[in-house]
Amino acid sequence: MGYKADVSPEAATFDQKALKSNWSHRHFAKAAGMGTFGINNMLITKIGCCGRYSTIVTNLDIEPDVPLKEEYCLYKKNGSCGVCVKNCPAGALTLNGYDRQKCYAVARKNAEIYTQFGSSYTNESGEQPNSVGSEVCGKCVVNTPCAFNRII
Ligand code: SF4
Ligand code: SF4
Repeated sequence: MGYKADVSPEAATFDQKALKSNWSHRHFAKAAGMGTFGINNMLITKIGCCGRYSTIVTNLDIEPDVPLKEEYCLYKKNGSCGVCVKNCPAGALTLNGYDRQKCYAVARKNAEIYTQFGSSYTNESGEQPNSVGSEVCGKCVVNTPCAFNRII
């Protein structure tokens, strides 16, 4: 159709010192009005926070969406819930904030065990896998009120 589109190589990288990516699919999704962030750092949409996002950069001529005004996280909305905090086995997630170093220690430990699925990310250069296994945990989205639903 004459438009351009591409995927950023930044999207697959992960800075192991800062413990952040330069490219957050979730923040783009929030800016596009798909949901709001829970205190578990996940984006809660109308169908919950157990989803994944991808982004495509394009010059396609479309009308942009706007961020939502309504809060979808129960704790942020009215101080209730907090199930995600109770689920965290490492004390990385609290009602007052998130310690990414503690969280990443759990993810690193899991990567040593779950090697059959490959590495989660590449290093800063984008060329090498950053670990032998999958750096995952995600207990803070398991069996939570926001996992598969938006809570009214
Ligand atoms: S489990 Fe509860 S407090 Fe945690 S993000 Fe979901 S709605 Fe918010
Ligand atoms: S991913 Fe695991 S360690 Fe990290 S905040 Fe969630 S439950 Fe805690």
